[in-house]
This record gives sequence, C-alpha cells and structure tokens, in this order.
Amino acid sequence: MGKKIAYLTVDDSPSKLMKEKVDYLLSKSIPAVFFCRGDFLEKRMKDVVYAIKNGFIVGNHAYSHKRFSELNLKDIKIEITKTDAFIEKAYKKAGIERTIKCFRFPYGNSGGKNKEKIQKFLETKGYKKQILRGITYDWWDEFDNRVDTYWTFDIREYEIHREKFSEINSIKDVFNHLKDKSPKRGGSLIASDSAEVILIHDHEETHKIFKKLIDRLTEMEIEFRLPESSPL
Ligand SMILES: [Zn+2]
Repeated sequence: MGKKIAYLTVDDSPSKLMKEKVDYLLSKSIPAVFFCRGDFLEKRMKDVVYAIKNGFIVGNHAYSHKRFSELNLKDIKIEITKTDAFIEKAYKKAGIERTIKCFRFPYGNSGGKNKEKIQKFLETKGYKKQILRGITYDWWDEFDNRVDTYWTFDIREYEIHREKFSEINSIKDVFNHLKDKSPKRGGSLIASDSAEVILIHDHEETHKIFKKLIDRLTEMEIEFRLPESSPL
C-alpha cells in the first residue's frame, strides 16, 4: 500500500475555537478546507480572515445549516448566496484572491427534488467541482460528477454528543473507527489505497480531541493536500 493522500475538510466553522485549530494545523503543516456556516461567519469574521491569510481555503456550508430537502428553492438560494457574500468579504479583508469556490451541503443533504436545480445554481454562482486526485472508490463516481464537495471518510467524532443509537459512543470508539477495515459507509483509512476526503468538525464540544485526532492521522502517515478547482 502506498502513502495515503487525503484532503482534510473541517465543517461547521467558525467556532470560538477555530483559530486554535488553524494554529495547530499550521504547526503541523497540514492544509485544510474550512466549510463555514454563514451565520457563524457573520459573527466571527476575524478568525476566518486569519485562516485565509494563512493559506487555508474557506468553503460555503450554507447560512443556517438546515436540511436542504426541507427548504424551498428560493430559501436554498438565499442560504447559498448570503454565505457566499460573507466568504467574499473575508477573502477581500484577507487581501487574498479567492480562486476556489467550493460548497458542502449541511448533513450532506443535496436537496431532494431540487437536487439538479441546486447543482445548476451553484455553477451560476461560480462554484466548481473540485479536483480530488486519487480517489478510486467505485461509489465515488456519483459524487465526483457533482459541483459540491462530498467526503469519503467521516471521522464521526460528533456522534459522541449527537446520536443516541450510533455505534460510536465514546472517544475510544472514534479512534477505533479510524482503523476500521470495512466501515458500513465510506472509505477506509487503512484498508484502501484510495485518496480520501476526510470530514472533521469545528465543534466546541469535541475540540479537546481535535488535536489528538490530527496527531493520529499524522502517525498513520497520511499526506494532506488541498483540492484544486477544475478549469472552466
Ligand atoms: Zn455541517
């Protein structure tokens, strides 16, 4: 097995502790995409500007983190557009050109009956499919054809606090999941050569294990890269 390549994505930023995460990743030379909620971005622009200045990519994670299948198309467009404007402002404040426009659906919910229309709308807003080299999972084809950025490996650390009937109930379970050879969904960090899009969250309640999780990924000799935007 060759060295595993991964694209690190951090969702639900910016929390009050985002800057600490940015500094930790910087200290480890790990690049990442922070998918930001518009409502949080509006309140904590400063830390997002700091992340951009330090080479991180900021992506759009909608305004208020609602399930798109439960919203009408008009409201979905507002969710995307409002957040896009805040991201634009953050890049301007950072004095960095925004070369990558990427989007991640809250809960990975692609919008139900509006799915196609949302993909088209994202394109009209300048969002583009990201080039994520080296992902070889058959099931990825569906996601590879979409404008939004999905993931292949969900760290699932949030389940400790959020899901009652999950098999992940403790910090130990989260770390064991990193070594799962045949997970029920998604890829495997140790049983496949494929590149991965790793999903972790900027939640305050799991902040204390963020650094440990990053350390463990580093010990697994994962090489982190940033996605590239596909040409027009
Ligand atoms: Zn989210």
